[in-house]
Amino acid sequence: MDLIPKAFVLYNQPLSQGDNMKLDQFIRDIPDFPKPGIVFKDITPLLANPLAFSSAIDSFVNYYRNGHLDIVLGIESRGFLFAAPLSDRLHKPLIPIRKKGKLPFDTHSTNYTLEYGEDSIEVHSDAIKPGQRVLIVDDLLATGGTMAAATRLAEQAGGEIAGIATLVELTALRGRQRLRGYDIFTQIKIKRI
Ligand code: AMP
Repeated sequence: MDLIPKAFVLYNQPLSQGDNMKLDQFIRDIPDFPKPGIVFKDITPLLANPLAFSSAIDSFVNYYRNGHLDIVLGIESRGFLFAAPLSDRLHKPLIPIRKKGKLPFDTHSTNYTLEYGEDSIEVHSDAIKPGQRVLIVDDLLATGGTMAAATRLAEQAGGEIAGIATLVELTALRGRQRLRGYDIFTQIKIKRI
């Protein structure tokens, strides 16, 4: 009998981009969710497949392992799913960016415009020290509005943006253009939305 579980062997293999599984097959389209006209990109099939999920985390680790960064910031809520294992693997502090009113201590706050109306996101005022290099993580980059707000928030708190990472990028929505000047790493680029 094999004494070392396969998942353990895979997890500990040397990492390289070429080992990345075809992850796009694990993203499910849900038309008209949460409202008519939106095709929701559902990442739960990827989360439910341990090999696909660990392949995604491996690719993030591989990309950032030699980079100079001090903190991993995760955007509520699906960003937490990727930011948490990444901070653990990189041995860097994990800092949550949350919707208004959720964080218990003093906060920095930034407003941003949604399709209808405004929202704000917050980070604890003592979470980022001036000059610290932050990696910001979310599940998906669409128009880039959420990520642009997160970069403003991190910079307002004194951080420098070391990188932006999302699992999925909806390229047609041109989020990248809105985030010019930052290093952006996304794994699954979807042209059709
Ligand atoms: P945006 O601010 O337009 O870049 O939108 C990115 C944020 O909204 C991310 O936190 C995503 O989780 C969510 N989001 C936007 N569009 C979609 C979509 N089509 N499917 C799933 N999540 C989305």
